[in-house]
Amino acid sequence: MTDQTEFSVLCSLFTWTQRSKSPAKKRSKFRKFLDSFCKDKNYFSAIRLILPNLDRERGTYGLKESVLATSLIDALGMSRESEDALRLINWRKGGAKTGVNAGNFALVAAEVLQRRQGMASGRLTIRELNDLLDKLASSENRAEKTSVLSTLIQKTNAQEMKWIIMIILKDLKLGISEKSIFHEFHPDAEDLFNVTCDLKLVCEKLKDRNQRHKRQDIVVGKAVRPQLAKRVANATEAWKKLHGKEVVVECKFDGDRIQIHKNGRDIYFFSRNFLDHSEYRHAMSDIIVQNIVVDRCILDGEMLVWDKSLNRFAEFGSNQEIAKAARDGLDSDRQWQDVAFDILYVGDTSVIHQSLKERHELLRKVVRPLKGSLEILIPNGGLNTDNPTGEPCWSFVARNVDEVERFFKETIENRDEGIVLKDLGSKWEPSDRGGKWMKLKPEYIQAGSDLDALIIGGYYGSGRRGGEVAQFLVGLAEHPSPNTHPKRFISFCRVGTGLSDDELDAVVTKLKPYFRKYEYPKKRPPSFYQVTNHSKERPDVWIDSPDKSIILTITSDIRTIESEVFAAPYSLRFPRIDRVRYDKPWYECLDVQSFIELVHSSNRT
Ligand code: ATP
Repeated sequence: MTDQTEFSVLCSLFTWTQRSKSPAKKRSKFRKFLDSFCKDKNYFSAIRLILPNLDRERGTYGLKESVLATSLIDALGMSRESEDALRLINWRKGGAKTGVNAGNFALVAAEVLQRRQGMASGRLTIRELNDLLDKLASSENRAEKTSVLSTLIQKTNAQEMKWIIMIILKDLKLGISEKSIFHEFHPDAEDLFNVTCDLKLVCEKLKDRNQRHKRQDIVVGKAVRPQLAKRVANATEAWKKLHGKEVVVECKFDGDRIQIHKNGRDIYFFSRNFLDHSEYRHAMSDIIVQNIVVDRCILDGEMLVWDKSLNRFAEFGSNQEIAKAARDGLDSDRQWQDVAFDILYVGDTSVIHQSLKERHELLRKVVRPLKGSLEILIPNGGLNTDNPTGEPCWSFVARNVDEVERFFKETIENRDEGIVLKDLGSKWEPSDRGGKWMKLKPEYIQAGSDLDALIIGGYYGSGRRGGEVAQFLVGLAEHPSPNTHPKRFISFCRVGTGLSDDELDAVVTKLKPYFRKYEYPKKRPPSFYQVTNHSKERPDVWIDSPDKSIILTITSDIRTIESEVFAAPYSLRFPRIDRVRYDKPWYECLDVQSFIELVHSSNRT
């Protein structure tokens, strides 16, 4: 019986799976577990613990690592100042002995728990664990959550508790894909999950594991896993891959992917991870009811923020503020706007098998656009530069790669997220990233990353600041050998904005004694700077020596661009000076290698 099975059995499976290197063995072990321990066909009780990120039966726990740390500290009755408490709080860094586990909260917690829990299994059953997790999710305050955690601690050993923590954090890091787990359970499980996003339903409908299931189409009211876009490096690559197809190019809007399901007066707003976002309901439901002319419908699109007074999209992120204003009935310049770029269901039938071109036609028929609240994204003419109406173009049918390239440049100038290219003859497929849709975005770096760059040169300003240095050329350090200071600096970007006049004056006054004019092309820059020959990169003055210079923290529109102008492989778009770092010595400048790693780690999908 699944429910009566001890959780320790599942823990052994987890530990074994994590250690094993063979995907085939991992899969067969998992299958054996289902065969032996779920004979009563109650698969859901176990599978929800194995794929916790797909389980929507319990609400969210409201316990991310930092809150979980303090709750565990309290549950264990530790002082918040104790060494182990600090270890939990600073789990990213790890303590003196935790270096190896740093960054993995569950492992740091297991170390701490090992010193406090016995070795013997607590003999907790799967049923008891699920009940306690339900209680953890439904408890409303920290004290209640702490008390559930302390019950769990009493009933487990450190290894078991470690896995429970990973279940709470919804990531078991088993090294086996969700696809394989579904496949070992039932050959139709993945497909059924993709069109229902309902793990319980999948486990129950497919409990006869030898019986194939009739292919199910999408239904109104059940979230469906979205069609995804494949990332390509440049317009030429995308164009080549879509060779011979009719291609629509769209702006990639920067909001929240939301599926709107209309079932009469019932409206759902499902996000990418199939949560129903009720915060949109208050402001948007009536609009949807009134402006979608069929009774039942599913729209796929991006939820954005529209600024009524500026008459343009505002930066996404003010969601909470808008939700609150909507709830409180307050007047605000900002409101939600859904941009529907696809339609999946109309009336009594799914339409995902129809071509995108046909679905665009359906969008036009079914949705009545409402300025500032509900728009549809269908081809609306040519590129902005060709568009006589002056209305911005968000979508057009491209005739050649140059048009794609130009549109991409326009969107970036406009600070949009990039573009999406779509095969107009393609159907919409749940969870597919095969290349019917392709996305092209500028490289970007993680928001919040501070880039500390060194001033290596200056440019004179014009007008008010004529004859005075008003902009800087900043550089990144060449990776220094261990325990030495960097010896060379590589030009990175030109930056002028961000400082007040007084702040700028202070920097210029401090650096003035070290400004050296260098004439091109006769003289090369000082040997400790690596630059290209590009004209934009010829500052009017160089800083005589890097050890006299000052570090600036640069922020940018979280975008980087591949650099042809500067010597570093990437530069920043719309850089701004955030702070002058008088407190940082010149040699603590970011090095190029770390910067490249930062760019790559931020661009995984
Ligand atoms: P990303 O972080 O790049 O948004 P993702 O993994 O969330 O990636 P992808 O399918 O890879 O999703 O990229 C497409 C995403 O871009 C969609 O999920 C959607 O949120 C967003 N988007 C914005 N505008 C469009 C558009 N016109 N067509 C399709 N998707 C769009």
